[in-house]
This record gives sequence, structure tokens and C-alpha cells, in this order.
Amino acid sequence: MTTTNQGPKRLYLMQVATMRAEVPVPAYLIQTGDGINVLIDTGFPASMIGTTTGSSGWSFVINESDHIINQLAALGLKPSDINYLICTHFDVDHAGSHDLFPDAELIVQRQHYEVAKGGHKRFARNREHWDAPNLHYRLVDGDTELLPGIELIETSGHVPGHQSVLVRLPETGPVLLTIDAAPSQGTLDVEKRKKGPMDMDEAGVIASTRKLVDLAKREGVTLIVCGHDANQWQNDLKKAPEFYV
Ligand SMILES: [Zn+2]
Repeated sequence: MTTTNQGPKRLYLMQVATMRAEVPVPAYLIQTGDGINVLIDTGFPASMIGTTTGSSGWSFVINESDHIINQLAALGLKPSDINYLICTHFDVDHAGSHDLFPDAELIVQRQHYEVAKGGHKRFARNREHWDAPNLHYRLVDGDTELLPGIELIETSGHVPGHQSVLVRLPETGPVLLTIDAAPSQGTLDVEKRKKGPMDMDEAGVIASTRKLVDLAKREGVTLIVCGHDANQWQNDLKKAPEFYV
């Protein structure tokens, strides 16, 4: 386990919106012992604050205080304090406010960036927010250590080049943020895993689930945080301003 000063010191789970039936839309903040701030995802754009009913009929709610800028402000941070922004993927609930972080280095899987940049319809409607000309991207290929104790895990299937994150905390131990590779605890059952309505590739979804479950076992992961699990979020997790150490 990495417990040096350079490694992660705190992990915050922030709720940046709520979808129907109390389903959380999270973003995450990692702070290291040497003062680096790593943000994971940015939630919806500020223009969508309020209640929106999607084309599929379900609605989501974004309170003013939910927006990523206000979540960070509540922790005493400005956008310019963020050194790295890990982009798990460019869906609007994950990448809707990337354009507010021009001072950060944005880290994305090359495959995902190229599919989105190529004009894929799914990511085009949110393009102004992840493809703003003032943003600085670093493209990575597959599993990559971003910093000591922060590892990016390539988990395609939900979308090409989706990435999950492993965070090694000094007291909690290794924490796996599955993001949308495993949106709920039920989806961690590899034998029963199926493609969800928003998943693009079923074989990829199953392979990535297996990869995460194997990694959790191999690395002795003590906490798996699923991407959009209402029950886990409400009952089993510490949310900002509380944090994991
Ligand atoms: Zn999502």
C-alpha cells in the first residue's frame, strides 16, 4: 500500500445531481499529501440547473448547490486549484462542465477522445463543454498510473475508452471508483451482467466488469464505489464535506 506523502490523502464523494428515484450523479475529488488536487468528472453544465425531463421520460434535478463549482467552493476550492481533471467519459452527466477548468490538465483515454472528436452523435450534444479551445488534454492508452496511488483503469463497454479509477488511501486502503463500468452493486455480478440501456457494447461491458472484479480481488480493494447506485450512496457511503482518508 502506498502511504507516502505524495500519495492520496483524502477522497471526497460529491453529488452533483440527482436522477429519478434518488439516483446520484457523482463527481470525486482526491487531495494528495503534497497538495495536488485531482478532480474526477464535472457533472452537468450550469445551464441545466433546475429540473429537466429527459426524452426517455425520467427527470433529473440539479440544485444550485449541486453544481461542481459550488461543490468545490464548499470545500474551499476554486476551479484554478484543480491540477488534474480525470475525464472518465464525455456523457453530459460526467463532462458537462469541463470547460470551467482551463487551468487543469485533462486526462482521457485516447480511444474515447478520438471517438468523440470524430463526431460521434452521443458526445456531440455536449461538445462545447469538453471540446472548448482553452482546454489542455493529455491522451493516455490503457491502464495508466497518473500519480503515485492514483491509477486509471481502462473499462470500455459503456462507451469506447471509458475509464475507472483506483485510489490508494493510507487508512481506508485501495478504493475502486467504477464509474459507469459498474453503475450499481448488482452489476458487479459478472455471470449476470448484461448491457444496460446506455451501454454501447455488451461484450465490452462484461469484460470490463470481470476486469474490475479481478482487480478488486488482486489489489485487496476495501471499498468499491459504483457509478449511480441510490442505495449504496444513501446508506453506505460518506459524502462531502465528509471524506475518506
Ligand atoms: Zn453516468
